[in-house]
Amino acid sequence: MPISRLVQMIRRAKPLTLEEGLNILKRDHYRCQYCGLDGSTSFENYLVMTVDFVIPRARGGKKEPRNLVTACRPCNLIKGRRVFKSFEEAKAYVLQRREELRKEWEARMARLKGHKAAAPSAG
Ligand SMILES: [Zn+2]
Repeated sequence: MPISRLVQMIRRAKPLTLEEGLNILKRDHYRCQYCGLDGSTSFENYLVMTVDFVIPRARGGKKEPRNLVTACRPCNLIKGRRVFKSFEEAKAYVLQRREELRKEWEARMARLKGHKAAAPSAG
């Protein structure tokens, strides 16, 4: 393996520093660029904020501001290591998947409430 390739791999593996991460959060006003969750309105929201590599690091995505966006943990997880042609395409995918998950959750909760309503009351 040529040294340049090795150097490139090491550079790619380097994580974001705290300062680099905070700069991205600040630039994006602490708001998830996928779902819009606002990390400035509550500590709980802030706690789930992460920095997402639009082109995943594992796929050669660079540690450059234009490849980095603020993302809440759920959106980051949903996007995973998929590669998209653009941020807009990634966002469309994440929002569609969130909507599917929301419908599954709504159905699950409706069933739960149905069970509760059908259960004999204890009192
Ligand atoms: Zn989000």
